[in-house]
Amino acid sequence: MTFNLSSPVLVLNANFEPIHVCNVRRAIGLITEEKATLVLNGRGYIRTVRTPVPCPSIIRLSKMIRRPHPIVKLSKQEVFRRDNYLCQYCSQRPPRPTIDHVIPRHMGGAHTWENLVTACPYCNHRKGGRTAEQAGMRLMKTPVRPPASARYIFGRYLQHNEEWEAFVAGW
Ligand SMILES: [Zn+2]
Repeated sequence: MTFNLSSPVLVLNANFEPIHVCNVRRAIGLITEEKATLVLNGRGYIRTVRTPVPCPSIIRLSKMIRRPHPIVKLSKQEVFRRDNYLCQYCSQRPPRPTIDHVIPRHMGGAHTWENLVTACPYCNHRKGGRTAEQAGMRLMKTPVRPPASARYIFGRYLQHNEEWEAFVAGW
């Protein structure tokens, strides 16, 4: 893994709560303006016009900012991630997953965590514009909104940023 100015940096609030991910360029800006301090480097140095500066992995805001607890934003990718990329009808992992509306849209099915699941193209096609019951199909599990823990919210970054693990645990 090589790092550059657009690599992700974990931003902690003044109380160490993980609140955001920004890029290296923004993080270095915040440090330079003394709005944040470096918590963890571990990524070597970035060459700038003047001197090499430490390439941050985690920074902490100098002043506590008030904000609502982060939540997982509903998106196709996040529905796939919640479902572990498995078709919720046949439990296979399709190379190209699709989104299925459990209650079809034309029946008033909403665009919500509770009504969207990952489906393989085959199951999606088979179900068509019907409910699972009408199509004689069964969901592996009831779809729900994913947990709002920092561990989950920032989970997709952890594979390439293992050092974040200790900082997102417990929030
Ligand atoms: Zn399937």
